[in-house]
Amino acid sequence: MSLYQIQNFINGKKTAGSGAEMVTLNPATNTVLAKGHESTASDVDAAVKAARAGFEVWKNTPAAERARVLFKAAQILRDRNDELALVETRDTGRAIQETEIVDVISGVECLEYFAGVAGSLAGEHIDLAGNFAYTRREAVGVCGAIGAWNYPIQIACWKAAPALACGNAVVYKPSEITPLSAIAVAEALQEAGLPDGVYNVVQGARECGASLVDHPDVDKISLTGSAATGAKVASVAAGGMKAVTMELGGKSPMIVFEDADLDNAVSGAQMANFYSSGQICSNGTRVFVHESVVDAFIEKLIARSKGLVLGDPEKPETQVGPIVTKTQFDQIMSYIEKGKQEGAKCVLGGNAVTDGMPEGGLFVEPTVFTECTDDMSIVREEIFGPVMSVLTFSDEEEAINRANDTQYGLAAGVFTKDLSRGHRVVARLEAGTCWINTYNITPIEMPFGGVKKSGVGRENGRAAIEYYTRIKSVYVETGDVEAPY
Ligand code: NAD
Repeated sequence: MSLYQIQNFINGKKTAGSGAEMVTLNPATNTVLAKGHESTASDVDAAVKAARAGFEVWKNTPAAERARVLFKAAQILRDRNDELALVETRDTGRAIQETEIVDVISGVECLEYFAGVAGSLAGEHIDLAGNFAYTRREAVGVCGAIGAWNYPIQIACWKAAPALACGNAVVYKPSEITPLSAIAVAEALQEAGLPDGVYNVVQGARECGASLVDHPDVDKISLTGSAATGAKVASVAAGGMKAVTMELGGKSPMIVFEDADLDNAVSGAQMANFYSSGQICSNGTRVFVHESVVDAFIEKLIARSKGLVLGDPEKPETQVGPIVTKTQFDQIMSYIEKGKQEGAKCVLGGNAVTDGMPEGGLFVEPTVFTECTDDMSIVREEIFGPVMSVLTFSDEEEAINRANDTQYGLAAGVFTKDLSRGHRVVARLEAGTCWINTYNITPIEMPFGGVKKSGVGRENGRAAIEYYTRIKSVYVETGDVEAPY
């Protein structure tokens, strides 16, 4: 297999970064997947300058034309689905059975959704008894966007689509772990007719991201990443009084009441912990199960999870691929060890696997801990791996209080057949996105984002418009100006 190239995309052209050499690995084989060079601060500056010039053109482009470009780019990416899904699988290690149906598709749907929204952006008219005011909803300007590694093309599109629909220009930095598919988004937009400079890509790690966040001509920062990175980035952005969207980590609760359909609750818990080898921000890793049904729940959970197929993520039958990096693998294994040491009972998995796996890949068995308590490290901290903690509770009030007892607030789920209870509980959960009787479904029409240390702002849905536009108020005097002078 020939190596992929890591490239910038600045002012409509693919270029090599002028910084140090950059290499990425295929997590399934630990072999070199892509090579290129990091973008330096001067590459970032060139991208921001191109974006500023692009912004002047794009903000004055009629909304219908902006929509046409986004729709067309969506179709171009849709046509490349299989090829790009394979790139995502090689870059992230996530199973092809996921990337073929989720990654490009959810990015494309976001482009389509915001293409539809573009023409409906509007301000409001405010009657002032004779006089009046109106508001203009204007683009923010140059948006610096920074992605996490786990869903690269989806994250790129979730930032590009609302930003571009609203008339902004973008400089996007994908994760240094998964730099490839952002260029496909840039190519599709260009082919669809996006003017040069409106969408740019720079490559690199923390330093490259920091140059973007700190750049004086960047108006807004949108980050998807860990809470620790979010805190640093938001504080630098605050120095320049830049608007921010922060999509950060979580330790989300999933509550299973005694009347829940247990088969659905088990499906939800599996999706909330083992999909993408557990490397999903909104995962429901604290599974609170009512004490009267916990034994039945665990029995079903183990029966249905012990046969999950680990292995080569490029094979269609593989359900659980490798962990993305050695650092992440070590973190997961150390949490599993802490879980055991702190007294949780490992009832499924708990080991790294090498037998029958592709050589060089780092695989972790889907793992379930029971007899967990709220103070354990595996219950308090984001692991970002296939590790579920099952906790028990005896009444609704207790479940809510314990579910909220976390610094995070990204997501939460409730399983119950009593829909009054479902809505009542969800109303009290401190989370930006909640599900009743399902988990981890994120349609593009529904706003997504966190509270507490899980972030600020929303992606997707009409709510995202608030974060990619600003309001200008205009007062109109229809009479004479009264002055006391
Ligand atoms: P990370 O925080 O290590 O990196 C995220 C991005 O920030 C990368 O592109 C990185 O290069 C960049 N970065 C790091 N330090 C920076 C700095 N000082 N200035 C500017 N940029 C900087 O996260 P990761 O390992 O790529 O992703 C996993 C994390 O992301 C998890 O915590 C997960 O929960 C979270 N996540 C959140 C969402 C969401 O929508 N809320 C989605 C996916 C992942």
